[in-house]
Amino acid sequence: MAEPLVAIEQINKSFGEVHVLKDISTTVEKGEVVVVIGPSGSGKSTFCRAINRLETIDSGQIRIDGTPLPEEGTQLAALRADVGMVFQSFNLFAHKTVLENVTLAPMRVRGTSKAEAEKRAMELLDRVGVANQAQKMPAQLSGGQQQRVAIARALAMDPKLMLLDEPTSALDPEMINEVLDVMVQLAKDGMTMIVVTHEMGFARKAADRVLFMADGRILEDAPPASFFDDPKTDRAKDFLSKIL
Ligand code: ADP
Ligand code: MG
Repeated sequence: MAEPLVAIEQINKSFGEVHVLKDISTTVEKGEVVVVIGPSGSGKSTFCRAINRLETIDSGQIRIDGTPLPEEGTQLAALRADVGMVFQSFNLFAHKTVLENVTLAPMRVRGTSKAEAEKRAMELLDRVGVANQAQKMPAQLSGGQQQRVAIARALAMDPKLMLLDEPTSALDPEMINEVLDVMVQLAKDGMTMIVVTHEMGFARKAADRVLFMADGRILEDAPPASFFDDPKTDRAKDFLSKIL
């Protein structure tokens, strides 16, 4: 069998006395869209951050495309280039234009020429529907536009995997759909994605699997229809009764 794009084997992570990830194992195949849901504090962000090594793990192993995550140094930069990350709080560079936000990493990390990086950036900004904002500063954009720029910025590195951690949680309600639409399109285009979100419409439309996390463990791993319509654990039933 081919190696999955992401292989996670029995990872553990503690912050001091708090055991946040408990023996988590799962795999993500190339092209798969995995939605992670679960109560606040269950370890979803730590799980995402471990996958691109923003957080170290205490034991276990994570492999991306067959390669175990590196410790430090230049290999780590290569990993980060392969794994795009989008956070709840857009995290754009405030003192750079939208276009510069998208061209910066390809130029610095991949050595792409300015002309080439700008051409690609404009294509990506067009794809997420904000090409007409390219010369503006991030603060001049709405939250939904900024988050779409953040997605374009991550895509500019041609990542093998996209991690999105509650990408719509900080948005005003009327802007949520414009970001979800971009994510649905990305999924349709075959991007491998791990998405932490409570947007059930997105999960039903785009996810291949839903992972339900609680207390640092994956309690359920099922296709969205089966998870939402027939959750197996009391924890998931309780959680769904509160958010649906
Ligand atoms: P979620 O994203 O599901 O809300 P997190 O992964 O952010 O959960 O957090 C899981 C647990 O780990 C929480 O108890 C949180 O307080 C703790 N935690 C997360 N990051 C840190 C940190 N850097 N230092 C100490 N505790 C942390
Ligand atoms: Mg979180």
